[in-house]
Amino acid sequence: MFYGKRAKEEEIETILVDTEVYSCSDDACIGWMRKDFVADDLLCPMCGNQMLQEIRELPKI
Ligand SMILES: [Zn+2]
Repeated sequence: MFYGKRAKEEEIETILVDTEVYSCSDDACIGWMRKDFVADDLLCPMCGNQMLQEIRELPKI
């Protein structure tokens, strides 16, 4: 559907929020997870190393 030429592109703006995440303690590994989705054992899903808590700016979900 089209509503003339009034596109609402300005409303499609990514909102970043400070989010608690766990990132892999191995600098060579890019593995990380949002705190809400992290495994109970706090191990990296990619390499199995321990993960460390940190704050990142991520798109709001
Ligand atoms: Zn890892």
